[in-house]
Amino acid sequence: MSRAAVPASTYRPLDVESLRPFLAAQAKVRELLGGRPATWRIREVGDGNLNLVFIVEGADGAVCVKQALPYVRAAGPSWPMPPDRAFYENAYYLAVAPHVGGLIPAIYHYDPELYCTVMERLAPHIILRHGLIAGRRYPQLARHLGEYVARACFFTSDLARAFERNMETMALFAGNKALVRITVDLIFADPYCESARNRHTSPPLDALVAQLRADTQLKVAAARFGQKFLNDTQALVHGDLHSGSVMVSETDSRVIDPEFAFYGPIGFDLGAFFGNLLLSWYSQPGHATAADDRVAYRQWILEQAGAFWESFRGRFLALWAEHAEGDAFPRRMFGGPEGAAALGAAREAFMDTLFADMLGFAACKMIRRILGFAHVLDFESIADANLRAQCETGALAMARLLLTRPLQFRAVADVIAAVPGVAVR
Ligand code: ADP
Ligand code: MG
Repeated sequence: MSRAAVPASTYRPLDVESLRPFLAAQAKVRELLGGRPATWRIREVGDGNLNLVFIVEGADGAVCVKQALPYVRAAGPSWPMPPDRAFYENAYYLAVAPHVGGLIPAIYHYDPELYCTVMERLAPHIILRHGLIAGRRYPQLARHLGEYVARACFFTSDLARAFERNMETMALFAGNKALVRITVDLIFADPYCESARNRHTSPPLDALVAQLRADTQLKVAAARFGQKFLNDTQALVHGDLHSGSVMVSETDSRVIDPEFAFYGPIGFDLGAFFGNLLLSWYSQPGHATAADDRVAYRQWILEQAGAFWESFRGRFLALWAEHAEGDAFPRRMFGGPEGAAALGAAREAFMDTLFADMLGFAACKMIRRILGFAHVLDFESIADANLRAQCETGALAMARLLLTRPLQFRAVADVIAAVPGVAVR
């Protein structure tokens, strides 16, 4: 797989009219949709920050079409952004598809000139974040996501594969610089400084925000994770694995939107998901109603955070025991019962480092969603600014604790026990 040079002039943003002949020209997609192209129902549904997304329904089936725009959709053409992020999204799907089974959408077609992917339309799935705001439970979710991160990361790591192969993949994804730049700036720097791109619930959070930006211990901890983000090329990571990048039905979970993919720390994906569960927990008082105070639901969310980590841990260790074909921890170095015991202890120690990384990255992700450029609907949809600020204050306090007192959190049970005590109400 190599990156084709594409003349910029062939690119054009698709619209409802140009999409029809584009899809009709693809035999497989045409058959999947069924009926005459003129009868296909097409609508644009993109709610993300960056891209165009269309749903196309035919007589027999439906597809989803995602096209990268040459700028940040949420900001407009004044913030240019190379559309080749679509290439990396497609390359990520190709790289993990053999390992993650049905946990991603089926990809039908990628057009390198239009930077556009035609994929399975997920239905009746909804964005997980919306489900969490609505107070819905997904019994399989934590297990699916733990499995997902374990499989996608283990099989693209030096534990599973020869380093030569990983270096090739690494070199490919090293081109995704524009999106890594977004992460470096918007997650690991801007929230801790004055920046025109930042915003927060003002005035209620003004004093706390000033205090956090003056907290050098917090900033050093966040900067260390920013450094780790760039330095720890452990595996191919999704790069944006929050609850808006997961679509769910009652029984099924799918990971979408891997345009930020690159070689990085496994804890970055773990922390994205874990941190967004914590954000959901802290936002719940803002969604309580007379019929549902969300108290039991909050408990369920914390249980899912625990189940997610345990599922990841269990699967990653099992994969390591069965598929250690890579250059890291060569199997032949650890023969005999003593070797096996030493290897077992080393594996546990490695899982502990991933756990600590998960918490640190989770905290960075929580902070940026409250102080930075891109906020989350969990809080944004709380109309009462004072109530929203109360919820956000709890989340910030927890994130600060995770970053500045990491030794208090040795096991996921420590986090689950601490969260309810670190809340405003
Ligand atoms: P962006 O990168 O711009 O955030 P996403 O990949 O997150 O774009 O997609 C934006 C929205 O489009 C999602 O929140 C979801 O509502 C919808 N969507 C994306 N992929 C699919 C799909 N395969 N099936 C159905 N809806 C989808
Ligand atoms: Mg995206």
